[in-house]
Amino acid sequence: MQSNRPLGVSTSLFRGILGPDAEPEGIRALQGTPISHIEYFCDDGDRNHTNPQHIAAVKQAATEGGVTIWSCHAPFGGTDISDLEETARCTSVQTVIEALDAAVELSAGRMVLHGSREPVTGEERPRRLEQCIRSLDELCQQASQRGVKLALELLPRTCLGNRPAEMRSILNAVDGDLRVCFDVNHITLYEGAREALTALGDRIETLHISDHDGVDERHWVPGRGIVDWPAFLTGLDDIGYDGCLLHEARDAELDLKGNLKAIGEAARSNLGSSSSMGGR
Ligand SMILES: [Zn+2]
Repeated sequence: MQSNRPLGVSTSLFRGILGPDAEPEGIRALQGTPISHIEYFCDDGDRNHTNPQHIAAVKQAATEGGVTIWSCHAPFGGTDISDLEETARCTSVQTVIEALDAAVELSAGRMVLHGSREPVTGEERPRRLEQCIRSLDELCQQASQRGVKLALELLPRTCLGNRPAEMRSILNAVDGDLRVCFDVNHITLYEGAREALTALGDRIETLHISDHDGVDERHWVPGRGIVDWPAFLTGLDDIGYDGCLLHEARDAELDLKGNLKAIGEAARSNLGSSSSMGGR
């Protein structure tokens, strides 16, 4: 079925192809494509999101191009809100709060974050979950004070929040309006797309869309891998999701223009997107 859900890409696509600081150039490259939304990725290596000039340039490029900054992604390289060492956990929480401030500056309504780094051993998992929930209690409060929705991402492998059941238990334990970022490329390694969507239903705030080979996450453009896209779409209809189809996908063989074209065409073929090239 046709859908009016807007198409989006992560600025990690721009950084990956054009290099760091390339967000304004990447945003300008969206002109003439069906992609109208972005997720701004905060990197804890260069920390550009704490630089007011950089954020102003991103904002200006988005405003001039009519691009919506749908969400921000909190840093995850050296950041771990489930750290068992209390000082390191608090530092990670502060890092996420800085990203929340960037989200406010960029008028992004939501922020995606990871529950942990990896690996998480079975033995330490209960304590790591406790630390994660402690951090999320505080972060939900900070997000709500700023008018930003916090969305915990479904992650693969041993990361915290790697299955709908564990995600549900985190949602139930956290004191605050915690939501979910449903990453298709992660959860469908283990569970059917429609079933997983139904299990988290109204708590799903945003999506990460890409394809994989059934072995591990690949972040391929939809259609290259084995994800059951019709089931995914039916699941979105089931839960009444009408937000952005935000892509975290890349074809390593293509340049930025080629990737944007491939994502737009794949969305028409696989995601019921009615957007056409130059359609905005
Ligand atoms: Zn992520």
